[in-house]
Amino acid sequence: MKGNLEDKSMKYCTSSKHFQALASILLLLAPEVLFAQYLPTPDYNPLKIRVNLIIVQRADGSGNFQDNPADRSFLRNMMSVTNGVFADLTNRNEEYYPGQNLPFLSNAKLEFVPNILFVKDETGWNNRNDTNPSGVPYLSGWYLDSLDQQIYHADTLPKAINLYFTTDGQVYEQMVVKATTTDYNRLVFFKQHAASEIPVLNTRASIYGQYHTMRCHVGNVWLKLWWKRNVLHEPDWTMEYEVGESIAHEIGHLMGLYHTPDAHIHALMRTKFGGLRDYMTTREIATVHQMFGRYPSLWQFVPAEVNYGSAKADWVFAEAQTWKEDRRVYANIVIKTGAILTIQGLLLMPSNGTITIEPGATLLIEGGLVRRFNTPEPEAFGHTGDVGWKPTPPSPYLQESRDLDQAGVLRLSGNGKIEAAILGIVSGE
Ligand SMILES: [Zn+2]
Repeated sequence: MKGNLEDKSMKYCTSSKHFQALASILLLLAPEVLFAQYLPTPDYNPLKIRVNLIIVQRADGSGNFQDNPADRSFLRNMMSVTNGVFADLTNRNEEYYPGQNLPFLSNAKLEFVPNILFVKDETGWNNRNDTNPSGVPYLSGWYLDSLDQQIYHADTLPKAINLYFTTDGQVYEQMVVKATTTDYNRLVFFKQHAASEIPVLNTRASIYGQYHTMRCHVGNVWLKLWWKRNVLHEPDWTMEYEVGESIAHEIGHLMGLYHTPDAHIHALMRTKFGGLRDYMTTREIATVHQMFGRYPSLWQFVPAEVNYGSAKADWVFAEAQTWKEDRRVYANIVIKTGAILTIQGLLLMPSNGTITIEPGATLLIEGGLVRRFNTPEPEAFGHTGDVGWKPTPPSPYLQESRDLDQAGVLRLSGNGKIEAAILGIVSGE
């Protein structure tokens, strides 16, 4: 049943730029220490990720879910299924990777927070107007681009992954309005629900690595639900599971995951439909968390205050390391005595995160910028050049630098900046 959808996804997956992206992900994950850094342990808070469920109705409001308690309940339950996939995984390591003694995590620590939007759009409502034969909402040229741009740029809406729910207008007319057929399965154009893009890292080679909208096309959910209710007389939960799991798979793509072997029948990222969608490898979990650290278009969907809230999540530096690339972290940074952390790119901290520079440690902002994610625009710290710890005049930004002997060193060079009023840097014990 999922063949049509997966054909679309496969086409998208096999373009060369995505192999490049895959290669860079694998390279970045190669050192086991880095792999471990992105692996959420059971005491982590989940990464909260906003998603918009965009219900595209006809101009007269018909042809899709309605803004009423029953339909909202279906959509909420559907997203509970999606969240349940990531929060309650089953260990199938020995079944799929026998003898490898792979680590296993039952909770991927990913939570999707839905916001339901009802919009009227006479053209967009009908997914037969999607002239792209692959059905994938590529970054440009998709039939819902202008609606998507309106939603993505709306000041009143926080940035979210946009899931577009549309209807096959022809089948709607025949089955729901005129009641001349009940053969949904044979007549529907998009057989299964969803297709989405795969992100690429922010490299010079990719112009798509910057902030942009990310969306997923979820076709015919309401129409198939109508058919199940009125023709098959099935309870709603069968459709809640079917779609909730499809959405988990498609969001998996949006978060950087590729297809896995069909023999792994319960794997989330298996191409074919079917199976319980209850298995992810720890490497897949690490990949997703790494993507949220490294990929700007995923940063924007996580609220500023989100913090793994676990000491195990802290980035602890015990020796010299240089961060050249832009990065958002969801944890504190601790630079141990004798270590030097050099920041050459953008470093985004949680609104409640701290950077600790222990005595004898150094944070060197070398042409980089450190700021909190929720500060609207980068703003100069006010000093450039070497700063060190200067107790006078008291700085509102570098707090509790108790005395010079105990403090670590903060040095700004090469136009390096820490944005105003963003950091309480505390010298360690
Ligand atoms: Zn897929």
